Amino acid sequence: MRRIPAGKNRPGRFIRPEKKVEAAEEEQIKTITIPEKLTIRELAETMHMNPSEIIKKLFLAGQIMTPNSEVSYEEAEKIALDYDILCEKEQKVDVIEELLREDEDKEEDMETRPPVVCVMGHVDHGKTSLLDEIRKTNVTGKEAGGITQAIGAYTVNVDGRSITFLDTPGHEAFTAMRMRGANSTDIAVLVVAADDGVMPQTIEAINHAKAAEVEIVVAINKIDKAGANVDRVKQELTNYELIPTDWGGSTEFVEVSAKTGEGIQDLLETILLTADILELKANPNRKARGLVLEAKLDKGRGPVANVLVQKGTLHIGDFISAGASSGKVRAMIDDKGKRVKEAKPSQPVEILGLSDVPSAGEVLVAHETNDEARAYAETYKNQHKEELIEDTKMRMNLDDLFNQMKEGNLKEFNLILKADVQGSVEALKQSLLKLSNDEVVVKVIHSGVGAITESDVTLASASNAVIIGFNVRPEAAAKSMAEHEGVDIRLYKVIYQAIDAVEAALTGMLAPVYEERVIGHVEVRQIFKASSVGNIAGSYVLDGVITRGCKCRIRRGDEQIFDGDLLSLKRYKDDVKEVKAGFECGLVFDGFDKMQVGDIVEAYDLVEVPRT
Ligand code: GDP
Repeated sequence: MRRIPAGKNRPGRFIRPEKKVEAAEEEQIKTITIPEKLTIRELAETMHMNPSEIIKKLFLAGQIMTPNSEVSYEEAEKIALDYDILCEKEQKVDVIEELLREDEDKEEDMETRPPVVCVMGHVDHGKTSLLDEIRKTNVTGKEAGGITQAIGAYTVNVDGRSITFLDTPGHEAFTAMRMRGANSTDIAVLVVAADDGVMPQTIEAINHAKAAEVEIVVAINKIDKAGANVDRVKQELTNYELIPTDWGGSTEFVEVSAKTGEGIQDLLETILLTADILELKANPNRKARGLVLEAKLDKGRGPVANVLVQKGTLHIGDFISAGASSGKVRAMIDDKGKRVKEAKPSQPVEILGLSDVPSAGEVLVAHETNDEARAYAETYKNQHKEELIEDTKMRMNLDDLFNQMKEGNLKEFNLILKADVQGSVEALKQSLLKLSNDEVVVKVIHSGVGAITESDVTLASASNAVIIGFNVRPEAAAKSMAEHEGVDIRLYKVIYQAIDAVEAALTGMLAPVYEERVIGHVEVRQIFKASSVGNIAGSYVLDGVITRGCKCRIRRGDEQIFDGDLLSLKRYKDDVKEVKAGFECGLVFDGFDKMQVGDIVEAYDLVEVPRT
């Protein structure tokens, strides 16, 4: 043992403060900081106590715990309160958020940048047609000859100014883009068909745009159609605080036809006008930051990421990171298929040179050095792994649906459907929705035609949904992402198989049905009196078996005189688990001791049977 040199540990330093602490404790209540979940041992440590003390106290209150038993924050709070200790919840630091935090650019460095626009609205109201029409009519003659690239976004030129359109319509993409809180969009064009009016997804789109604080421009589409009623659409939208400027409101409405091209120019000019009011700016003279719109693994070229530059300028040769991947920009291709050397704010480009395929929605950051880029990716990887471990515990899986239900964790069963043709999507959707029962509601949160994409997996992961694919397959990136994130993807080629699978899972979710199963017969041959338990029936097992904890019916002649639990099963003096045919045993019944020699005991148990 090491001796402490005299004088060094002169109590002066220790004893006095201890006294002070004691005095202080009397006056002030102690507060500890604890996480969402912790073991009794960890709690005891934070409370500066011995775990056994806590365990003893809990035991006396009827709770059996070990040092390794896990308790929730609320339970821990209650325990601590018994010792006059208050608890505070540990605030989790989002490492990634911290990593990505940066100072605002100075006002004088800011320059006007093009608006980034997305198109939202109800299905079939013409989002895709509108995007196509805008693209077609606004590429210059020279560009039109080139190969246009689908890179998640494209820019159009209007009176010498640019507008960037995100070319995936719909708000799922839009929501995924907001994953890291970075808004990709400045203006949302809300497409409403003049012959159909406000529909459910119109309302959803409005809510999404409002939540993201994105400016809405309304495009009333299909005005070429006979049934078009522009005023009705305007009227309906007033219920959602979208009031046209000519009615005294502040929302721009433009009447268009994606079919004839009418009003498109007007729409583009209105977007520019709105952009002017928003005063959209960015500093182009700094290291770039952007958002990954889409990414994939290209056989020949390696990981390819479509990126929207948001700040600064991205150059060939820049060191970059995006989520868990890093690298150096080897090449950049714009939406017209042209190789470019740099990309400025609001410009979409396809980039080559990342080590891996990043997820859509990740923030792309340009760095000073390769090491810095790598360190960013590494931090992300570690953090992401932790989050995944936590998350995976919660993930939905068709196989454990029943368990989740039993634990009361599930009242809604979310599904995402993908099929090869729209007809199948609808058929499947209708059939699956019908499977809802009293206990669980089946919800199709997203459906569509085509392969299962990363965006589907993101949505499934965020909403704890199972993905059902009918005659489609997941894209390679989506598949690996699903594996990572524990998202259950089920593929079927026959509709009824898909329905059967979901139905089976749901049936498991219902409270189990039990059925009696007779396991043996026993004859009472002798009665022993035991003061402590009442009468014991000395018996002989005629057939089958009698087991501890089984149920028994006692028959005397044709009459049933008891039906209830077997309280104890003994062979000689020992408690046993079971006694087989041909052996003797001693039986005590729960709440009945009027057995007589000659009584026949029918032993049975309850087994769970599948529902029909
Ligand atoms: P999305 O689901 O919102 O992307 O809608 P689509 O762009 O796929 O359009 C749905 C249908 O409406 C298609 O058959 C289009 O041809 C049609 N459509 C779209 N815009 C117009 C329009 O302005 N006028 C007419 N008559 N039909 C349109």
